Amino acid sequence: MDSNVQNETYGAMPRTIRNFNRKIVLKAARERDTFSVADIASDIMLSRQSVMKALNYFLEKGIMIPMGKGNSTETGGKKPELYALRPPHKYVVILHRTDALVFNLMDMFRNTLDTLSITITKSLTSEEFVEALRTGSEKLLARNPEAKKVLYGVALAMGGLVEQKNHSLHRSMYFSNIQVGLPLYDILRKIYPNVPKIVVENVGRMAGRTVLFDYPKTNQNSRVFSLYIDRAIVGCFFVDGQLQDDSAMMMIEVGHMVLDVHDTEPCTCGSYGCAENLISIKKVRKRISEQIESYQNSCLAEIPVKDITFEKLFNGSKRGDALCAGEVQRLARLMGHLIRNIFLVCDPGTVVFQGNFSNADDLFDSMLRQSIQNDFVYTIRGGTFEIVYDKRDLITLESLGCAQSMIQAFYEDDNLYCSDSELLPVT
Ligand SMILES: [Zn+2]
Repeated sequence: MDSNVQNETYGAMPRTIRNFNRKIVLKAARERDTFSVADIASDIMLSRQSVMKALNYFLEKGIMIPMGKGNSTETGGKKPELYALRPPHKYVVILHRTDALVFNLMDMFRNTLDTLSITITKSLTSEEFVEALRTGSEKLLARNPEAKKVLYGVALAMGGLVEQKNHSLHRSMYFSNIQVGLPLYDILRKIYPNVPKIVVENVGRMAGRTVLFDYPKTNQNSRVFSLYIDRAIVGCFFVDGQLQDDSAMMMIEVGHMVLDVHDTEPCTCGSYGCAENLISIKKVRKRISEQIESYQNSCLAEIPVKDITFEKLFNGSKRGDALCAGEVQRLARLMGHLIRNIFLVCDPGTVVFQGNFSNADDLFDSMLRQSIQNDFVYTIRGGTFEIVYDKRDLITLESLGCAQSMIQAFYEDDNLYCSDSELLPVT
């Protein structure tokens, strides 16, 4: 299947075929640590000559490098030349945490090369926030002058609702003094005037991206829903490996699905009985403190209420602590209701937990599965579902998610496959 078929399929100019060949060669190269021309040729059913042409292009661009001779696979055959994909490009990842902005310099293999953080507070003004972004960026790049020359982009993971259209901060529950509609993309463009790519997204959506990369099994399942649960709940919905943007608002609002109309505490959104409120650590602590007198032997009786965490709760439940177990069951039932609502809208085949519930115990898991399986909505759809617990900490997930957004943009960038364009910033 060389140029003839491609001529038909793409009905196009030789230039288009050339760029297409480069694309599929690079895609195949990404699947291997090192490779020979023959490896790639057989992976993608392209002639060795065409593979060699594409390879030479990437060698010249410095995207691939020679790795010396490999072992001969054919009897008496000569040892093949090996190559590897090594784009020199770097990018900056900025994570908005409650008390700091974290700046990571990363490479195309998701390794963190350098990191620093700038302290921030809840009462920060818009100007001070912009200043923190600038200071951190300048410090990081001053420490890594060589990275400046090969900087492909910057990815910002932001708490709060980020508009998909103009990448501004629509609303943030973290800051009390930041203006509504803070134009994050434009601010970063001023700080990084020459980088080819800038991505700004909600922190939970960034973290959600790691699901597809790190759970290859979920890749085959065409409908995946990730639930990032920290102080807020953020849902990401993927169909065939693509994050669904249309439903972005709904995904952010998943935490404000009402699960108990009789709840008496108002949510940050002004409503009552929101998922976010009912499954919060604040709610758990309040309920435990109300019951603790009847459970003097509970492991939670030994610690101050303010030190109760989800980890302690699940650990207690694992050991058969009745107070913990009761609370875990309440959480599982609520989560079952939430997933029911998600099933109604998205019908996912796999649900992935990130954050607060990622260390849930067997009791939570079995209660949750039971409540989903018994549900009318689930049974009429008759599908099968899978629940995955992603145990990595949130800051790791956020950083890897940002990295992935950059790497994806890099490999999808047409300039990478086009001889007369440059992928590097104009200096
Ligand atoms: Zn709410």
